[in-house]
Amino acid sequence: AAIADHWRQSVEPTQDGEPELAPWEGLAGDAEDSDVLVEQALARLPLCAPPEEAGAACVACLEALLGGPVRLTVPLGEPMPRIFGTLEAGVAVALQVPLRHGTLELALPPDRAPEPALAEALRQGLARLWEAQQVRAAYERALESLRFQLAALEQITHTLAVARGVEETERYVLDAAGEVLFAWWAALYRRRGRVYRLRAARSLRADLLTTDLPAATVEASGADASSGPFFVPEEVPLRAALGPGGDVAVAVALSIPDADPALLLLGPRMNEAPYGDGELALLRTLADTAAIALRNAHLVDRLRAQATIDPLTGCQNRRGFDERLATEFARAERYHRSLCLVLVDLDHFKRLNDTYGHEAGDDALRRIGRLLRRSFRAADDACRYGGEEFALICPETSKAEGLLLGERLRRLIAALGPDSEVPVPLTASVGVAAYPDDAATPLDLVRAADRALYQAKAAGRNCVRGA
Ligand code: GH3
Ligand code: MG
Ligand code: MG
Repeated sequence: AAIADHWRQSVEPTQDGEPELAPWEGLAGDAEDSDVLVEQALARLPLCAPPEEAGAACVACLEALLGGPVRLTVPLGEPMPRIFGTLEAGVAVALQVPLRHGTLELALPPDRAPEPALAEALRQGLARLWEAQQVRAAYERALESLRFQLAALEQITHTLAVARGVEETERYVLDAAGEVLFAWWAALYRRRGRVYRLRAARSLRADLLTTDLPAATVEASGADASSGPFFVPEEVPLRAALGPGGDVAVAVALSIPDADPALLLLGPRMNEAPYGDGELALLRTLADTAAIALRNAHLVDRLRAQATIDPLTGCQNRRGFDERLATEFARAERYHRSLCLVLVDLDHFKRLNDTYGHEAGDDALRRIGRLLRRSFRAADDACRYGGEEFALICPETSKAEGLLLGERLRRLIAALGPDSEVPVPLTASVGVAAYPDDAATPLDLVRAADRALYQAKAAGRNCVRGA
């Protein structure tokens, strides 16, 4: 503050409104008291001004003192030194001033080289000014980096505070870490038994990690949720396990309550700057936030699953069916794959209800649900579409395959046989439709399968029809 006041007084207008002379004005050629004037001039250089301003004032002062253009090369801790003055490069260096970091150089034509006394005064004045500027530059960089980290954390916290499913949250965590720390690549793993499964990876280089990691290798590298983020040394087996492109620089283990632990790996930084303590601190906070977000994501997924399961049959309910069909349909469209929909409607179910009671009907539905869930590859794909109607969504399945599957299903139902609750055999009619053969939208696919089902009913029930 004192320095700032000092500078302000030297540039602000005096009380009667007349601007004071700049500190170096009227100096050139003034032999009397020149030492004092030089000292005063240098003392009044703006210590606290931004480097450009300090540089300009310094050059103006030096030009006045040395009677012509000068060139000043100052290291400020940046990759390139700052250059001030209008004199072109290649001129003899008249003065070298060692600073806290590096050396300042003042260049000017040899015929204007300063007298030893002036040179000494300049050395002191320049050292004072530019060491202060170096300190200032270092603080500014630290402040800038903190400001960036704060903004990044704010953004991450904001993003992760929104409730999402696990897959999406893992993606967000990975992107946040990669972007905030300028990593060339990032990868997120989740532990499953003896393996760390790769869940998400991103890379701004050509190579993308694809391999899972043995849990033993991960643990041997020192990844432990209680230890926080750490620098990964060159020779750890973890690097070997990652293979080419696995030049991991930092890692952090995340412990997630009631869920599999996670491991986040980051490659080298794009700005070639090494990871420092600041980055590690940022990563620690990010990891903590990510662990909470992932725990919540697991809860979201569990709730979501509960909301789409039909309690009577254990199959997906109508909502689950709609979601799955939309997802699978979009995937089939994007990758030009076929998708088959098999609709099943129990025959004369009303009659069964009327004859043996609603309880018996429920029991039959339960048995069919179990059969569907147990008999087909992905249990998730069995849906209870309506009252006594079921649906199977079959990705990567052609219409011919779908028809075979429908027939197999019809036979399985017919083979269930009577039980104590329902003392008569059950039969079902099946309608099959496929994308892209029969429909261009999910709704049309359902309609096509429904029409095929209607045809199966019209054909006498207990049979399969394709759209
Ligand atoms: P079809 O399909 O062969 O033409 O005859 P249907 O009798 O099965 O046809 P419809 O669709 O008219 O009747 C379906 C019946 O399924 C009506 C309803 O009582 C019964 N139902 C629907 N949901 C349930 C349920 O959750 N439990 C029981 N017990 N019955 C149900
Ligand atoms: Mg029906
Ligand atoms: Mg029916």
